[in-house]
Amino acid sequence: MLTQQEQLRYSRQIMLKKIGEQGQVALRNANVLIVGMGGLGNPVALYLTAAGIGKLLIADGDQIDISNLQRQVLFNENDVGDNKVDVAAEKLQQNNSDVNIEVIDEMLDEELCDYYFPQVDVILDCTDNITTRYLINQKCIEHSIPLIIGAAIGFDGQQLVVDPRNPESACYHCLFPSSEKAPVNNCQTIGIMGPVLAIIAGMQSLQAIKLLTNNTIHINQLNLFDGLSNQWQQFNIKKQPNCEVCGTPS
Ligand SMILES: [Zn+2]
Repeated sequence: MLTQQEQLRYSRQIMLKKIGEQGQVALRNANVLIVGMGGLGNPVALYLTAAGIGKLLIADGDQIDISNLQRQVLFNENDVGDNKVDVAAEKLQQNNSDVNIEVIDEMLDEELCDYYFPQVDVILDCTDNITTRYLINQKCIEHSIPLIIGAAIGFDGQQLVVDPRNPESACYHCLFPSSEKAPVNNCQTIGIMGPVLAIIAGMQSLQAIKLLTNNTIHINQLNLFDGLSNQWQQFNIKKQPNCEVCGTPS
């Protein structure tokens, strides 16, 4: 049951029929891992903290650079040079002291994935590194943990949910079988509009809340956002039976 304080604090989402008190309890019981505490990870972490997630793990090995401030909205000028996860944890805790926040001050490798993934209900990929993206996808399949991927570059963003608990679900590797075809450019080389990250991060946070509260989530749907034309496009993708990562070994 929720305390009176919790009922008040989360009243605006509890009054939604698709969330209700049951949904709020589910959020409180949830363990969530956010990989990457940059332009996507910042707003995702803030929205999930504000929504009352029980335990949030945040992973990033970087320090805050002056060029991050244009889009990484949890950080300010005094934070330059400090560890992203430490500063983010402090800011998040100021928003909601009930949330249990654990920091992982390094970028995930195989070993860390194997240690942390089985502890959580969902993983949000907020990285901008293609190698890490493939690793996270592969480890989510191995450990059967739902994955919410977000990416953005320039004025464009993309979002995809992979749910290995569903045998029909395509994975990131089904979509981009080799890293040559995957979007390798990052915001260091191409640039990025801050608000585009907010839109994709908002989508990712929404998917996480829906997933954790047992609402319908859409797998096999690649959502693309074009910030210049204001248009969303949805592409239906398919699981590739011969996918090296999620396919059935023959
Ligand atoms: Zn696959």
